[in-house]
Amino acid sequence: MNILIINAGSSSLKYQLMDPDTGVVSAKGLCERIGIDGRLNHNANGKKVVKDIPMPTHSEAIAATLDILVDAVDGVIKSTDEIDAVGHRVLHGGMEFFDSCIIDDEVIAAIEKCIPLGPLHNPANLMGIRACQAVMPTTPQVAVFDTAFHMTMPPKAYRYAIPTEYFKNDSIRRYGFHGTSHKYVAKRTAELVGKTEFKMVNCHLGNGSSMSAVLNGKCQDTTMGLTPLAGVPMGTRSGDIDAAVVQFICNKYGMSVDECLNMLNKKSGVLALSGNVSSDFRDLGNGAAEGNEECQLALDKFAYEVAKYVGAYAAALKGIDVLTFTAGVGENDGATRAAICDYLGFLGVKLDPELNAQRGEHKISAEDSKVQVWVVPTNEELMIAQDTAELVKAAK
Ligand code: AMP
Repeated sequence: MNILIINAGSSSLKYQLMDPDTGVVSAKGLCERIGIDGRLNHNANGKKVVKDIPMPTHSEAIAATLDILVDAVDGVIKSTDEIDAVGHRVLHGGMEFFDSCIIDDEVIAAIEKCIPLGPLHNPANLMGIRACQAVMPTTPQVAVFDTAFHMTMPPKAYRYAIPTEYFKNDSIRRYGFHGTSHKYVAKRTAELVGKTEFKMVNCHLGNGSSMSAVLNGKCQDTTMGLTPLAGVPMGTRSGDIDAAVVQFICNKYGMSVDECLNMLNKKSGVLALSGNVSSDFRDLGNGAAEGNEECQLALDKFAYEVAKYVGAYAAALKGIDVLTFTAGVGENDGATRAAICDYLGFLGVKLDPELNAQRGEHKISAEDSKVQVWVVPTNEELMIAQDTAELVKAAK
């Protein structure tokens, strides 16, 4: 089977052609500068191709993608008929979507309804969907939502303690993001530990970071909120702060709320704590090793906040059997994993330092650790491809 995975942004469109059974990616690429001029970056057959192609809208980007996929030299398929289905990443499913689903007019209307919750991403995701529908009208299209995995949270986890009218009238609540990654890791971890009933805390630590508390494969709580700003500090996002900080800063510096939120999203996090050295944990590690105290503070704060949430989620789940690390930092930064786990001995977490220094998908806890600790490299595209294939097969 060939699944085309599309992740459409406002001026870009990422694609992968994947076999959902093997996870093998035969081609992938990026259309960028959509609406400006247009450039296609394509990787297939061990070769990189860059082409300037006019892309006034997402339709031309999709057309360029399909053209290169069937290209006699740089392509990987003979005809677009070989694409069995398209899986679209959609940011916000609001309270409309609890799972991935086949796209029809009703689904499009519901994604539109979620635009106030995902004002930047959902319109772009819809442009990708509409562009595919126009050029591949008979190919099934599936929407996979970044929020859906978290929809099993109980009200005590997702409700904010603010007047009910904001929830009832405006759907303001915790949604959570990175759901496709959390879902993949939860599913994969069940395979790795060989059981389906267990209490797990997953740490998706990358440039954006979020954590989830998962009981028997179902999400019970997550750190991000109405937007991806909440939770642990991130590359450039503050994570949790007292909301009154916004009022204080706006009043004192004459900033608008939008400007202040932009600062909290783009100029905060470990970047800010490090004194603007970097949002990249490799740079922070190097800075700290050279004696830069602000880089050290950024790393310390990050590990501290992640460890605090592991403790909170162990309480939420009334126990913890498995702790997992994924994404750029979670998969690659053994020092940060060790700094986090250093707080967690009281829960029975014990790392094996040699295993923790190794790469790839593997267990990193010691034999006598009460909690299994794993590194599970995430694969959101595979999750999208598998959900898409499953839905399309079931519909036949
Ligand atoms: P992601 O958002 O999942 O792509 O993660 C990107 C982040 O992972 C980068 O900004 C780095 O901070 C971090 N990262 C990637 N490789 C390493 C590494 N070898 N050591 C430490 N951090 C890493």
